[in-house]
Amino acid sequence: MPKVNRHFFEIKREYIFPVIDRKLEELKQKMPQAEIVNLGVGDVALPLAPTVAHAIREATREMENPSSVHGYGPSEGYDFLREAIAKHEYAHLGISREEVFISDGINSDIVGILDLFDETNRIGITDPTYPVYRDASIMGGRAKNLLSLPCLEKNGFAPMPPEEKCDLIFLCSPQNPTGVALTSSQLKEWVAYAQKQKAILLYDNAYAAFITSPTVPKSIFEIEGAKEVAIEFCSFSKTAGFTGLRCGYTVLSKSLMAQLDGKNVPLHPLWSKRQNTKSNGVSYPIQRGAEAVFTESGQRETRAQISSYLAQAKTLRNGLEQLGHSCWGGKDSPYIWWKNPNGLSSWEFFDILLNKCQIISVPGSGFGQHGEGYVRLSAFTTPDKAKEALKRIKTIST
Ligand code: PLP
Repeated sequence: MPKVNRHFFEIKREYIFPVIDRKLEELKQKMPQAEIVNLGVGDVALPLAPTVAHAIREATREMENPSSVHGYGPSEGYDFLREAIAKHEYAHLGISREEVFISDGINSDIVGILDLFDETNRIGITDPTYPVYRDASIMGGRAKNLLSLPCLEKNGFAPMPPEEKCDLIFLCSPQNPTGVALTSSQLKEWVAYAQKQKAILLYDNAYAAFITSPTVPKSIFEIEGAKEVAIEFCSFSKTAGFTGLRCGYTVLSKSLMAQLDGKNVPLHPLWSKRQNTKSNGVSYPIQRGAEAVFTESGQRETRAQISSYLAQAKTLRNGLEQLGHSCWGGKDSPYIWWKNPNGLSSWEFFDILLNKCQIISVPGSGFGQHGEGYVRLSAFTTPDKAKEALKRIKTIST
């Protein structure tokens, strides 16, 4: 019999979603008529933008035509999409088409990138965090080389560069779950840390489209020197409602280096090799759909969706604050990080919201030990549901 990868069993995190589902089922049994407001989901609530849907349909039709057969595409993505991204998102930052790698989303790449790095590297992971970074690192046998970077209320939940040396650091801004976005000056500190420690920042930019504050950069590459110390991971998932379609991209500069036997080695050709080996790319229609996001109508429609989610976030955050609650995020992000009243634990407060208000949240403890005492609300919902949630929350607020 083959031996199993023992590292799977080192993942100690409480897996919260099955517990949430079980509690929800129990409530439905007890109160079959209850109208539940789901503010737990980190998934889009609005339909696909018409311009994107049209482009995907057209591309599929094209594939029916015997004179334009599309088989395997390039592993790094079609040039038309790489070009569109380089032009629309990075022209002012000097990133070229070849430095943009298309994939089926951030999760695949942010996990796959670890293939490029020796397993002795020390990896910094924020707490609370998007759990994928930690779990994937552990599955890859890196548990003993993880360093926790606490994000605390006294720092507005911003991760701070540690005293210790890390080789790789997973950073996410605007962050999931706290909704907190790093300003230029905070990111400059991280870039300076990486330069000093010769570290690389693995920068998850999944929520870039939600940034509205002028002090928050839309790309880490807006910070001088970042191309030599950072890899940026982006996605159409939340930007354009692609969670069910799957398309994202990773930006890795040709000038980014790591070490081999004391010599500098460029990572760009290694990532290219890795993608060519482990991926056969993203389907042609989906890449055409992603390209359509950058058209005038694509931008108008997808931005309108983001504005709608941000409006719900504002309603929820302002409403909570007016009721005397403390919360963070919800300005440059669809997530609101809500401090539980009266010192309740994340699960205790989750239960109150579920049983008394029929609202689903996500317990902060599921994102790390420093998430204990908070819950996350998602603004991926409709205006009427956000208002209804506040009405119900009022009944439990003193
Ligand atoms: N990164 C963060 C911080 C997320 O919150 C999510 C999804 O919720 C992802 C990545 C997943 O992105 P994708 O759909 O591109 O795999």
